[in-house]
Amino acid sequence: MTGEAVPPPNSWGLWPGVRSTSGEEWHDLRAVGGLLDDTAAGLFTTAVALRGWHDRAKFCACCGAAVRRIAAGWASECTGCGREEYPRTDPAVICLVHDGVGVNGERVLLARQPVWPPERYSVLAGFVEAGESLEACVEREIAEEVGVAVRGIRYLGSQPWPFPRSVMIAFAAEADPDAPLCLADGEIEEARWVPREEVLAALEAGGEIPGLRLPGATSIAGQMLAGWALA
Ligand SMILES: [Zn+2]
Repeated sequence: MTGEAVPPPNSWGLWPGVRSTSGEEWHDLRAVGGLLDDTAAGLFTTAVALRGWHDRAKFCACCGAAVRRIAAGWASECTGCGREEYPRTDPAVICLVHDGVGVNGERVLLARQPVWPPERYSVLAGFVEAGESLEACVEREIAEEVGVAVRGIRYLGSQPWPFPRSVMIAFAAEADPDAPLCLADGEIEEARWVPREEVLAALEAGGEIPGLRLPGATSIAGQMLAGWALA
């Protein structure tokens, strides 16, 4: 016995990356989503989202009784009080903050969380709170995480992110690069203004150069940074 812990299977009862006895090899959607076309990516994303909801919503939020699935898995009905529920999605904003110089800015504000791999930086993001507009969430999250005020908030696009149940809603905004950065304790380890040339160099090198590892190309954060740098 080596004492090495066997990782648990994922919610499908499978071990990602491990070939099954029938020869199939299953992968995490986040790792291979970039290989799929739009239709396949949409279908797999929906399947993962529904499966995640089935795993996490087994009891009624009102009376606590077990629920049963109806409508081919697209809804649930409480066996106690009869309440119906549908798959939940938590909105989260993600915002590319630039310095407003020229048409699209010349520097972008990137930050890193302490739990990320070394030198990994990304744009800022956070969950929408109860009763909050998306725009107010952008303002609050940027202020909370790095202590700067943003202006000129503009919608860019969105991406379903069922890990476990989010949709990422992307924005761009401007901020004063001379404003002092005040980092959220425990949440943001470092933040810095990165010139466009540095982001371009990382993109051209496949996503990373010494001191700067960009988010994956299939994530909306990666697409936002590439779109901004190449504009
Ligand atoms: Zn109930």
